Amino acid sequence: MAKTMQAAVVTAFGQPLEIQQLNIPSPGAGQILVKTEACGVCHTDLHAAKGDWPLKPTPPFIPGHEAIGIVVALGAGVTAVKEGDRVGVPWLYSACGHCEHCLSAWETVCGEAEFGGYTQNGGFAEYLLADPNFVAHIPAGLSAVEAAPLICAGVTTYKGIKETQARPGEWVAISGCGGLGHMAIQYAKAMGFKVAGIDIDDGKLAHATRLGADLVINARGDDVAAQLKKETGGGAHGFLITAPSLAAFKQGVEMTRKRGTCVLVGLPPGEFPVPLFDVVANCITVRGSFVGTRKDMAECLQFAADGKVKADIELQPLSAINNVLDRIEHGDVPSRVVIDFSRPVDEVTRSTAAALADA
Ligand code: NAD
Ligand code: ZN
Ligand code: ZN
Repeated sequence: MAKTMQAAVVTAFGQPLEIQQLNIPSPGAGQILVKTEACGVCHTDLHAAKGDWPLKPTPPFIPGHEAIGIVVALGAGVTAVKEGDRVGVPWLYSACGHCEHCLSAWETVCGEAEFGGYTQNGGFAEYLLADPNFVAHIPAGLSAVEAAPLICAGVTTYKGIKETQARPGEWVAISGCGGLGHMAIQYAKAMGFKVAGIDIDDGKLAHATRLGADLVINARGDDVAAQLKKETGGGAHGFLITAPSLAAFKQGVEMTRKRGTCVLVGLPPGEFPVPLFDVVANCITVRGSFVGTRKDMAECLQFAADGKVKADIELQPLSAINNVLDRIEHGDVPSRVVIDFSRPVDEVTRSTAAALADA
């Protein structure tokens, strides 16, 4: 096995990631080494690289929490996976297993949780370490590149839709139809809801319609809340906000039906005003939702294995990572970019050299 690997490293917040040649880590007791096949690029990776959130990672670190790969080495005492298994290394990298939240299957809010590509090195690297008790088990029949977006965008939206507590046949609205949102629309349809897609980009809305949205609305239009309320007979029973924009949050609460639930998932830095009278008088629930548990993960992967949802992916080499993050920042990624590690490094390097020569 090679001794070194390529990795994209955040060396300082707000700076381009550096492609570095690093030693391949070796798994300690209770850890596994995963050879990365694919890793999706989430808007969270951009927040991480910019240091957007109150809880900050410590540079240098390797982002990426949609990593899919093959287990190639086991540390002492590992029995939960075996060499050759295809696993996903998600945002919920590990949790303590014994606090009140872990005991009640809410490991996502464990106070000792580690986050992949944030507090632990992630999947923008040819190899990464993982906790075998928290990896996603990728069903046979799903390729690495198509599984990658599911282990963050998929599980987060699947869980978020469940958290709306809407019932089949009711309206679920998805604000932000990008990486998370394009999965949310498909999960919501597969779960039996009527679906409204809301975005500021007409291209994303056209895609939302192709994915099955029953209604699409441009968030920059006139009196958007009134429009959604008219079309849905009173507002969305469940509202899921994936948009990384504070404006979308205020709008989402306004569009939630009386007694409905507005689930907050997008994480732009900052705060948003809550129209208190409307929330109180209309008995609206506003609720945060953070990725999903291991059980949610298994369920959301099964939807894909059963052919009910499918991520739209654009493949790129690791060397393109800064361009990809830049495009995410400017809303120029149609759905999800997945870094494809299946091409040999020298091929990727050659194609980068060719691109530079063309530039
Ligand atoms: P993305 O960039 O792929 O998609 C964002 C979409 O929102 C785009 O289609 C964009 O056009 C749209 N948008 C922007 N402003 C809008 C507005 N005002 N109204 C409606 N739509 C608007 O991003 P992504 O990867 O889907 O991530 C979205 C957000 O979710 C990020 O903040 C990310 O950190 C967060 N996130 C949260 C969790 C969680 O567990 N809660 C998990 C993953 C990602
Ligand atoms: Zn993510
Ligand atoms: Zn815990």
